[in-house]
Amino acid sequence: MVEETHSGVLIFSERDDVVHELLSKGRELADQLNTMLSAISCGSDASDRAEEYIAQGADNVYTVVNPFLDLFDVEVYTDAFMKLVKEQRPSIFLIGATKRGKELAPRVAQRLGVGCETECTNLSLEDGNLVIERMIYGGNAIATEVYRTKPQIATVPPRRFESLERDDSRKGEVVEFEVEIKEPRTKLVETRDREVGAIRIEDAEIIVSAGRGFRGKEDLQLVMDLTKAVGGICIGCSRPISADLKWLPEDHWVGLSGHKVRPKLYVAVGISGQVQHLAGMRDSQVIVAINKDPDAPIFKAADYGIIGDLYEVVPKLISIFKSILKR
Ligand code: FAD
Repeated sequence: MVEETHSGVLIFSERDDVVHELLSKGRELADQLNTMLSAISCGSDASDRAEEYIAQGADNVYTVVNPFLDLFDVEVYTDAFMKLVKEQRPSIFLIGATKRGKELAPRVAQRLGVGCETECTNLSLEDGNLVIERMIYGGNAIATEVYRTKPQIATVPPRRFESLERDDSRKGEVVEFEVEIKEPRTKLVETRDREVGAIRIEDAEIIVSAGRGFRGKEDLQLVMDLTKAVGGICIGCSRPISADLKWLPEDHWVGLSGHKVRPKLYVAVGISGQVQHLAGMRDSQVIVAINKDPDAPIFKAADYGIIGDLYEVVPKLISIFKSILKR
C-alpha cells in the first residue's frame, strides 16, 4: 500500500561530492513530481554545508547540529534519521552507497518497515513511484524494481550521476532540525588514516588498471610508469590483483564489488573484461584495452584495443608517450 501523505525527495551522504551527485538526480525527480528537494547535513558543522547544498540544487537543507553526529555511528545516525523521516515524511530518500550509507539505509528502512534498494544504477519514475535499476546475478543481469511502500529508500554509488553546476544565486531554506540523541552504546577510541593513493580512484580522470595478465607484483611498475606517461596518478586493478594476490590494496579494486569509476580515460592492461569488472568501469569516457587474446571480452567494451603481449606493448607505449611529452 502506498501512503499518499508522503512528499518530497530527501538526500543524504556523509560525502559532499556524493550529495552533489544525488542532488542533481534528485532535482530531476523532484521537478517531475512537482515537489521539494531536501538534503540533510549532520554534525557540529552541519550549518557550514547548507548554502553549498542549496547552490547544488536543494530547496531546503535540514541541519542536525549535534556533536554525537561528528563521527559516524550507525546506531546514532539511524535514531536521528528515524525522527527526521517520520516527521518530514519524504516520498523518496536517496542515500549515497558509501560504506556508511550502505549500513544506514537498510537500518532506517527496516525500522520503518519499508523497502530499500541498494547500489541502484538508474532511477526513474512511474505513476509517481520510484523505479530503480540495479545489477543482479553477479552483474550478469539488470533488475528493474518498483516500490510499493513509502518512503522509497535507495542507495546510489558514487559517480553514478553528474553534479549540477554550482549556482550561488539559488535560494533555499535552512531548517534546523532538533533531535535528542542518546549517548551511543559504543565508544570510538581512536581513528587512524589509512594510506591511500594521492587521490580517491573514483575522482581520477585517468586510470591505468592491471589484471591477471601480469606475472608478478614487481611487474606492476609497468602500470605505474604507463600511468605517469599518460598524465595520470591513479592505478586501478581487477579483483584478483587486490583480493586474491594482495598485490594492491582494495582502494585500487575496480568492479561490481570494488569501486565504480568514470574517468576520461581507462586503460585495462591484462584484464579479460568479465562482466563484474565491466560493471565498475564501463561508463568511462574512453576505454583502451591491451590483451594478448583477441577474443577477450574487454575488446567488446573498448573504444581502442591493442592485441599483443603487455610486456612488449606497455614499454613501447611508455616510450612513445615520453617522447611526445619531451617535444
Ligand atoms: P583473468 O580473467 O584471468 O584475465 C587475465 C587476462 O590477461 C586474460 O584476458 C589474458 O588473455 C590476459 N593476458 C595474460 N597474459 C597477458 C600478457 N602477457 N599480455 C596481455 N594480456 C595478457 N572482478 C573484478 O575485476 N572486479 C570486481 O569487482 C569483481 N567482482 C566480482 C563479484 C562477484 C560476485 C564475482 C563472482 C566475481 C567478481 N569479479 C570481479 C571477478 C571476475 O569475475 C573475474 O574473475 C576477474 O575480473 C578477472 O580478473 P582479470 O581480468 O584480471 O583476470
